[in-house]
Amino acid sequence: MLPLDPQADIGRRAWVPCPGCADTRDCEPCAERRTCSLHWRYLLSNKGSLLHLQCPGCTHVWTHETGFGATRSLWSRVTSGLPRPAREP
Ligand SMILES: [Zn+2]
Ligand SMILES: [Zn+2]
Repeated sequence: MLPLDPQADIGRRAWVPCPGCADTRDCEPCAERRTCSLHWRYLLSNKGSLLHLQCPGCTHVWTHETGFGATRSLWSRVTSGLPRPAREP
C-alpha cells in the first residue's frame, strides 16, 4: 500500500469509481452516481479535465479523464461534498 499523498485533503473529494479495488460495485448510491458517503476519492489535483485521484481504501493513485473540461457543472457534480464528512473508522 502506498502512503496517502500529502496533498490528500478530505475537503477535496471526487466521486469516481476506483480502478484498483472496484469498491463501488453493488453500491446503490454509486450506481446512481450520487455522492456516496462511503466511496469517494481524494482529489489530489486537476489539470483541465484530468483529475489526479487517490483512493482512500486501497491508496491506488490514478488519473481520471473526465472528458468534460473543468466546468462549473462538472465541479459541482464531482466535488460537491457532504456537509459534514466523517472519517472512516
Ligand atoms: Zn481503491
Ligand atoms: Zn458507494
